[in-house]
Amino acid sequence: MFSALSDYHVHTPLCLHAKGWPVEFAARAVELGLGELGISDHNPMPEYFDNWRMLREDLPRYFEEVEKARAAFPQLRIRLGLECDYLAGREAWIEELAGMAQWDFFIGSVHYVSDSWAVDSPYKLSEWKNRDVMEVWSIYFERLTMAAESGLFEIIGHADLPKKFGHRPTGDCTPMFEKFLNAAKAHRCAIDVNTAGLRKDCKEIYPSRELLTLAFRHGIPITLGSDAHAPEEVGMNFKEAIELVRRAGYTSCLTFKQKRAQQIKL
Ligand code: ZN
Ligand code: FE
Ligand code: FE
Repeated sequence: MFSALSDYHVHTPLCLHAKGWPVEFAARAVELGLGELGISDHNPMPEYFDNWRMLREDLPRYFEEVEKARAAFPQLRIRLGLECDYLAGREAWIEELAGMAQWDFFIGSVHYVSDSWAVDSPYKLSEWKNRDVMEVWSIYFERLTMAAESGLFEIIGHADLPKKFGHRPTGDCTPMFEKFLNAAKAHRCAIDVNTAGLRKDCKEIYPSRELLTLAFRHGIPITLGSDAHAPEEVGMNFKEAIELVRRAGYTSCLTFKQKRAQQIKL
């Protein structure tokens, strides 16, 4: 059923909150009949930054583990990527990272909506009580637009992450969506259709049908991702993802080899 499909959003234990090494994720991908697996763990920062990303000194181990998976499953195309936090002012570090390996793709994600608040953190849920939901979404989309404009990323991660715990604005989001999508279009970013949302309180794939339909109209390509933090989550709910993207108008998705995009039929 999944033949030739690709899962482009998979973590490893190096980020300290996932289990299963690339070889185990690859085994699951082969079991499902996926054609391609993109490993994309949370990027290191040059300094100690927070407790949910790999450490800089673990990068060689990361490369090693991806190589091990490639050796164990030659029938599966395994791509080397990162999920990079877009942080305004830290673009030079992402550029430096880009020079450290033969990367296939970078996902640019926004988690931080302030210096200390990662909007998806279950430990920071109380922050929402002090904030207007629409204001948080606006800040998030401003940052997401900057991530697209940075030109550092092939893919933009989970584009409506602030809905994770069910915080949805009542106002019209179309202008902020449009601004982001125009930036994504101008900088050739694909959008990560991410099934992890189905496993969260929002019970909905990232991004929503509304945002994805707009993205299709803007001519923005997609990648498929499970955001797996455990091997059993690889390819999870891809059937639902395919249904959603087809309804939005999509008939293909992208894969990346050394940052060059390739289109595959859905
Ligand atoms: Zn994570
Ligand atoms: Fe993320
Ligand atoms: Fe992720």
